Amino acid sequence: MNTTIQKVIIIGSGPAGLTAAIYAARANLKPLVFEGLQPGGQLTITTDVENFPGFPQGIMGPELMDLFRKQAQRFEADTQFKIVDEVDISSRPFKVRTGEEEYLTESIIISTGATAKLLGLESETKLMGHGVSACATCDGFFFKDKKVLIVGGGDSAMEEATFLTKFASSVSIVHRRDEFRASKIMQDRALNNPKIDVIWNANIEDMLGEPGNGGLTGVILKNTVTGETSQMDCDGVFMAIGHKPNSELFNGKLNLDENGYIKTEPGTTKTSVPGVFASGDIQDHVYRQAVTAAGSGCMAALDAEHFLENNPLE
Ligand code: NAP
Repeated sequence: MNTTIQKVIIIGSGPAGLTAAIYAARANLKPLVFEGLQPGGQLTITTDVENFPGFPQGIMGPELMDLFRKQAQRFEADTQFKIVDEVDISSRPFKVRTGEEEYLTESIIISTGATAKLLGLESETKLMGHGVSACATCDGFFFKDKKVLIVGGGDSAMEEATFLTKFASSVSIVHRRDEFRASKIMQDRALNNPKIDVIWNANIEDMLGEPGNGGLTGVILKNTVTGETSQMDCDGVFMAIGHKPNSELFNGKLNLDENGYIKTEPGTTKTSVPGVFASGDIQDHVYRQAVTAAGSGCMAALDAEHFLENNPLE
């Protein structure tokens, strides 16, 4: 047990967590950041990031996150490659456990993010960032005049398929059933787009191509009714089968919405427990952008600073 009481512990190290760390460190709160399972967050599995302001030539996702981390460390944020196993937020000081160690803290900023659901294929992991993507908004631009597939049948798949037609020459939606779960209006918009077609009753069974050799070249499809397999050439596959918020640590401890996202008071990063703040994708299933996550990380640090000023520990 560590007897020092931290001012703020930040859990997670994507754009939200590290921006919170920069602001908290500059406010002299000496934040302790536990980087978690995927240090740097979801951007570390993308390649070029072209829409983060300030980088007119674009920047590689992992490099951008290294810069975020260095900027936080410059102001003496203590960033540690540790995974938080348990939190006790029933009373202050809160307790945060990583492995055998327990830390005390006056406030917590949760920036544990969300994880795009994937099919779980080995080839999918290998080709991620090399033709395979889980974010059309981030990567669609790289598929100008290319043939792409999008997997899923929900609103995200419809929205992203429609978005991708701005760049791609053709977009095929691959769906495992013979009807979509997406809302009627979103379906209609996609189905009425001449660049979009649908491959019903199909799953991707394998992805073809090598990362060092041009990336993805095609997929093997399996018909979910007949079991027949077929090969299809394509340049890109976009996964749109949903996201999972990384909120397991807070189940039963904070108010979550029906999909597991942490609820925050509108216009703030305040959760249902005073002194605990949430920023980034863990509380935002709508925008999910690095720049919006960074913005809410800044808000969380300012909210925490304000809270600490007004609620000193006895
Ligand atoms: P979703 O509604 O959960 O849809 C996921 C889709 O992926 C489903 O069609 C599902 O198929 C399919 N799927 C799941 N696992 C799969 C697997 N292993 N293999 C193949 N297919 C799989 O997720 P979402 O589309 O990301 O939407 C999430 C929430 O955000 C929804 O509430 C949605 O309405 C909302 N949203 C709203 C908007 C908007 O209004 N503008 C835009 C995007 C999202 P089945 O249908 O067979 O289960």
